[in-house]
Amino acid sequence: MTSLSIPFALDHHGNEVPIDEAERFKANYYRCPECKEIVNPRKGDQRKYFAHKSGVLDETDCSLSSQADVEEMVEELRTSDIEKGEENQDIRVYLGEEPGGRLRLFGVLPSLDWSTIPPGVDIDPLLSDIEVSGSGVERTPVGRSFHPSEPEVTFELDPRSEKYLVEIDGPDRLDDILGEWTADGPTSGDLFVGDQTRARRFQENRQIKHGEWVYVLADAVDVELPDIVETYSLADWTVLAFPARPETEALLEEYSTGLTTDEYGFDADIVLPAHAHPTSDAPISSKPRDAIFVGVVPAPEQDPIFEIVSIPKRHGETVELESTGPGNPRYFKSTLPAQGSKRISVHQRNSSRHRLVHLHAEEDPTEGAQETGIGDIGLSIGHGEDSIHLGPLDEESEYTFPSDFQPQTLPGTITYTGPEGLNLEITGEFPTTYEGNSPLVRTTTNLESFLPNLSHWVNQGCSSVSVEFDGIGTVELNFSEVTSGGNA
Ligand SMILES: [Zn+2]
Repeated sequence: MTSLSIPFALDHHGNEVPIDEAERFKANYYRCPECKEIVNPRKGDQRKYFAHKSGVLDETDCSLSSQADVEEMVEELRTSDIEKGEENQDIRVYLGEEPGGRLRLFGVLPSLDWSTIPPGVDIDPLLSDIEVSGSGVERTPVGRSFHPSEPEVTFELDPRSEKYLVEIDGPDRLDDILGEWTADGPTSGDLFVGDQTRARRFQENRQIKHGEWVYVLADAVDVELPDIVETYSLADWTVLAFPARPETEALLEEYSTGLTTDEYGFDADIVLPAHAHPTSDAPISSKPRDAIFVGVVPAPEQDPIFEIVSIPKRHGETVELESTGPGNPRYFKSTLPAQGSKRISVHQRNSSRHRLVHLHAEEDPTEGAQETGIGDIGLSIGHGEDSIHLGPLDEESEYTFPSDFQPQTLPGTITYTGPEGLNLEITGEFPTTYEGNSPLVRTTTNLESFLPNLSHWVNQGCSSVSVEFDGIGTVELNFSEVTSGGNA
């Protein structure tokens, strides 16, 4: 009998553990995601997988009977928690602090997506035919709230309510949002994770990353709490608020159910747009077609496969990110849509780990919009009266300096634009060996301070320089025509 290659199993919290992260010598610990019987990691040089403990399948029927069943399970994990919730018509429930320190409980529903509105169809009359009613909801949204130019629909929830309902009736075309959206009222042990403006409630097991902000609902607290914990009240609830850290793990175990603080798996860092908040899943507004650049950092020494999944999945192909080696960041590049939202989930394959990234195109985004025109990551090159922009994300990313260019003016000629502290790798090519080796490679996080060295390189005959923007792409500077340097 051949054993199935099951790529993940469950740990004792019920979390999916990808085979790469399984501890090889932890025997009889992991469980089959289907039949829940013991599976053991097999990690050979060629293949790595979990297999049912021998004898298990003689006594138990496991519905994982073919590789196709396994594939189906892997595909199932690819669907983000956000999409599953929306299919189920769940209201997403959040806690956040208002200026002044009051806590607010609010619900979020998706707005309409432009892609579901056929071209030529006027959206406004459709929206005015929507009727919304709600219970447990303090200000019920109206039809217009669901306009696709809105990133999402938010509304206040009454923390005393046991059940929330938003019922939406309207034209069939708006099928995506019609129906009864529901959520349960707050209960003791509810856990909200995110940041202080916006933390999402998780009712299932949720792995928490150190540094995330946590709110836990409790009936009453009669013990002395560590200084790190702030307490709030929300109707009759006591809310404990604290950052997830090693020293707050005991607190999480005591007050909250269904919680794990195991290795979280990965970080998704939104480099562009630069004003994106690192931990919140709030929509990020930026101009239409602005660059999107997301760095995904796996856990130390792990080299899992990450993929970008559209929300919902049918809206786009799943993109696999190129591996860059264990523990190294890998990158996803894209652009904002011309209008409306783009929602993607960064997913670690063979796990239920998903990170929502919600980008929303606005002509005049209010927050952080005018920062630097940060979509212009790259180099500006002064060229007479004008300046030329060379970006690693642009089609055109090479510039040839004219023959009369004076290398010593480089520091006043080149300006860096982009996120502060980005790692740049600068490679200079020399036709003849310089200092015994060519090319020369240097790294810097401060290009301006490096430019005098670059002048020196060109004076020594450097013919071309490539500037690599930390995995994003490369800009080429060509000095081969410059006659005033050593090329003369
Ligand atoms: Zn099984």
